Amino acid sequence: MLPRRFELHRPRSLPEVFDLLDRHGDDASVYAGGTELLIALKARVLHYPHLVDLKALAELAVIEEAGDDVVIGALASHHRIATHPLMQRLLPAYAELSDGIANIRVRCAGTLGGNLCFAEPHADPPALLAALGARVRLQGKEGQRDCAVANFILGDFETERQPGEVMTAILVPKPAPGLQAAYRCYGAGERPAAGAAAVILPDATGKVVQAQFWIGAVSGRPLPLPATMAAASGKAMHDVAEACLGIAAEEIAVIEASDDSHGSADYKRHLALTMLERALAAARGHETEAKRVPA
Ligand SMILES: Cc1cc2nc3c(=O)[nH]c(=O)nc-3n(C[C@H](O)[C@H](O)[C@H](O)COP(=O)(O)OP(=O)(O)OC[C@H]3O[C@@H](n4cnc5c(N)ncnc54)[C@H](O)[C@@H]3O)c2cc1C
Repeated sequence: MLPRRFELHRPRSLPEVFDLLDRHGDDASVYAGGTELLIALKARVLHYPHLVDLKALAELAVIEEAGDDVVIGALASHHRIATHPLMQRLLPAYAELSDGIANIRVRCAGTLGGNLCFAEPHADPPALLAALGARVRLQGKEGQRDCAVANFILGDFETERQPGEVMTAILVPKPAPGLQAAYRCYGAGERPAAGAAAVILPDATGKVVQAQFWIGAVSGRPLPLPATMAAASGKAMHDVAEACLGIAAEEIAVIEASDDSHGSADYKRHLALTMLERALAAARGHETEAKRVPA
């Protein structure tokens, strides 16, 4: 099916974007790669008489260091993130995640900002970004604000972004020396049915001083595992899996999850525990299972 008629705007600056959004209100939507929005327009699930293409805003595609953060422009594509030397050096686990998203066509066109703003529940980035303590930067006509990724996604297709706001960047704290991180996911078709992120920081004696475990894709938002994190804290690195996987099993057994075309809630909970086990092993460099092979 073809989308209903719309007018395409190609602004060259953010103030121009905000003027267009002001002028057309609910009749307008911004878009970046179009990999989600254009499908919804063609299926006539959504319709906007005015589309505002962000692609000319090159400043929103930078990937750079700024103070204590790695700044990923909202318009950076998954492929660019996966192959960028700064990402591979400072955030290799996130670069690896990006390399596993979708297929090469979607990775080249689809952006991280579009992924987070669309908030399709079966997404890879939110769990690892939340575990790494990342924030999103939102800019509107009146100014900008930052919001933790953990709080930004509220549920299926629902975010903290307010009308008239554009996501300009994702800010990931530079990892402390020795930080170990990994994300693992499984999906029988396109998109993950369940994913898990493990981020652990040992001190000089090898004891865990910081642990973040997050589950993704099983419900509308990334879910933390606070009891599992507490169980890992203070443990020697070689004891972490033994110390926390039993608790993770109990915690994941009651985690919020939904039945959908990717499987039942129970199936996703089962997968989530297996993915956490693999993510933890991968973060510690002890992985034996094959990781997802990108298409
Ligand atoms: C076949 C297929 C397979 C996929 N597989 C995976 C997968 O395995 N894992 C995964 O995580 N994802 C997967 N995806 C989703 C993919 O990651 C997203 O489609 C992509 O990242 C969306 O980015 P985009 O720039 O194309 O968004 P667009 O389609 O341009 O926009 C999506 C939404 O975000 C809004 N938006 C976009 N950019 C901004 C911005 N800067 N500020 C404010 N609002 C904005 C738009 O208004 C729109 O509502 C898959 C998608 C497809 C089509």
